Amino acid sequence: MLSTAKFEKEIMEKAKSLEFSTFLLGVVLPTDFEEKLSEEERLAAKAGMKRSLGMRLETAWKKRGIRADFTDPDVKFTLDFYRKRLILSIKPLYIYGRYLKYSREIPQSKWPCRKCQGSGCDYCKGEGAMYSETVEGLLASPLLKATGAKATKMHAVGREDIDARMLGTGRPFVLELASPKKRKISLAKFEEEINRKNKGKMAANGLRFVEKDAIGKVKAAQPAKTYQLKVSCTRAITKSDFTKLLRLSGKLIHQKTPERVLHRRADLVRRRKILGLKAKQVDKNTLELTVKAQSGTYVKEFVTGDKGRTRPSVSEVLGCTCKPLELDVIDVDFELGG
Ligand SMILES: [Zn+2]
Repeated sequence: MLSTAKFEKEIMEKAKSLEFSTFLLGVVLPTDFEEKLSEEERLAAKAGMKRSLGMRLETAWKKRGIRADFTDPDVKFTLDFYRKRLILSIKPLYIYGRYLKYSREIPQSKWPCRKCQGSGCDYCKGEGAMYSETVEGLLASPLLKATGAKATKMHAVGREDIDARMLGTGRPFVLELASPKKRKISLAKFEEEINRKNKGKMAANGLRFVEKDAIGKVKAAQPAKTYQLKVSCTRAITKSDFTKLLRLSGKLIHQKTPERVLHRRADLVRRRKILGLKAKQVDKNTLELTVKAQSGTYVKEFVTGDKGRTRPSVSEVLGCTCKPLELDVIDVDFELGG
């Protein structure tokens, strides 16, 4: 019989610096041992080891409230007799929330350097990235520190352009923290800290723990979005222009892939609905537009017309050239629920 004593000691040692409520054991048998056994005997040997060691561990960790869990454990210890080592796998933490971005100079997540593709060069001052700060980085750094996680990954409901702010209700996301050593952290405290440290840059709200399935829901979402744009026109705006603009509300528009993204997207025609439109005059030549549009609408091109590639457009109905000066996303119509 194989001895689990060495593994048991190692597990007990590792568990001291780990925060978890549930665990599972796994066993990988060495080849020479396995060859002597039938399939049934193999399973029985593994089950026996797991049962007796599992019971001893549960007893040892009783005060910490730790118990075995066979479906979705926080931690899995695999006794690998074949490689002669203990393999530890820790379930990631998943945090749901919404972020706001007040800066027009911060991207959502890491944008590899266009010269070196991330390896670091003179152009990016060795950073490997075009921007040293990202929404993901600012959100994740205190959480990484507090949980001892190895890495983070952000899954968001779409993204805004770097020069667009994300205001209003914010953009929903799930932040995944890989291999956390601590899991019992107060998200309210982190929200407060993140928002205090990044005043004027970004903020987070509604942070809460969720399960892995939230990632799929966030990725599959195709919510309507509401934008606020400051638009300059090449001629003075008149009263009758507002009537023309309001007619765009509820319109189905046809958008050929914008010129600016043609190098990386297929050239095709998208049909998207403008769900709502409001217009306000800022000065003689400037408008403020609030546009609610179906998911996937290229809203900048809806304003410019993209040389006739988007029809109808604000430029087309006003019969002059209109350009967005500033763009903000003010609502992403999505709620995770649960
Ligand atoms: Zn570089």
